Amino acid sequence: MSTFEIKKKDREFLDNLKQKEKTEVLVNRMVREKYIPNLAEIRFLLSLEEELAGLVYDAAHQVQLDNFEDKLQIRGILEFSNICEKNCKYCGIRKNNKYISRYHLSLDEILQIAREIEKTDITTIVLQSGESRYYPLSSLISIIKAIKENTSLALTLSTGVHTREEIEKLAEAGCDRFLLRFETSDQKIFSEMHPDDNLLTRLNCLENLKRSGIVPGSGFMIGLPGSNLSTVARDLLFLTGLNLPMAGIGPYIPVNPKEVIASPATLNTDVYFLAVSLLRLMNPQMHIPATTAFDNLVPGSRILLLNRGCNVFMPSFTRDELRKKYSIYQRRETTCNTKDKLENLHEKLQKKKPEVNLP
Ligand code: SF4
Repeated sequence: MSTFEIKKKDREFLDNLKQKEKTEVLVNRMVREKYIPNLAEIRFLLSLEEELAGLVYDAAHQVQLDNFEDKLQIRGILEFSNICEKNCKYCGIRKNNKYISRYHLSLDEILQIAREIEKTDITTIVLQSGESRYYPLSSLISIIKAIKENTSLALTLSTGVHTREEIEKLAEAGCDRFLLRFETSDQKIFSEMHPDDNLLTRLNCLENLKRSGIVPGSGFMIGLPGSNLSTVARDLLFLTGLNLPMAGIGPYIPVNPKEVIASPATLNTDVYFLAVSLLRLMNPQMHIPATTAFDNLVPGSRILLLNRGCNVFMPSFTRDELRKKYSIYQRRETTCNTKDKLENLHEKLQKKKPEVNLP
């Protein structure tokens, strides 16, 4: 039978077979040979759907289990101030947003919550705020020292860009880790979204963190306006090239639009989840959190991600009344800040051991 005689249905069958074979070969190489796919291959993997996407999810979970067994790292996050001097277009706490009231916690309030976190057996506190000199460096240093002297918690800071000198002082004070996402490696989209920021400055900051001995983490946003599948693929390669011990990626969720903000890129929902699983396959030992924004994309999906490559979960310990004011994006309520809820979480996770069938 000539090629021309093959009916459309048969051609589709053959195409599917080829796609499956290609997916299996690529995923197998990533798992067994630590192969880093090229741009075209990542684009191909990001465009998979249903059963074939499942092959990537399962492989990512297998790599996660191989490297971390079924141990989940839980880190308590405290959003201690929503004051910010910058105007990232997607962000609900940007300086020019007049629709929210601002708050900041005192040293005593922060310390009290740190002690509460310690009591839940969590071993790390993540302190997050807008980028602002409202807390001068001396205040940040006092906060770090107070937590290190009064609790046994490891401390992660996420307070935006700092100079090299500032980073050295934060390291001296006892800061263990620092999160600074680059958000996108696409210069044009970065400039469009961050009118008062610079991609190179962020990357330099990450370099300075590495040099200071503070463990750096970064990440990017999936689906920023103007992005497409190639942008996601390039960001995955870029992030992998940074060779960092931790990184988080999450969907762009437009903030409550009392001001006009661009719509997200049109991407299939699977792309967001595949990006996380591919990040795991490309970085087997990286600590990857299931980021809160996923719960806004698909309710409950933060838990799902813990079976698709993520090994870190960060419940919020910010008081409910303040959390509403920390709307980086428009979010559903996903607070998990009591011991009960944490126990429920453990229970849920124990029931989630998927069958893994690697090709
Ligand atoms: S993303 Fe960060 S730096 Fe930008 S406006 Fe929001 S809090 Fe400020």
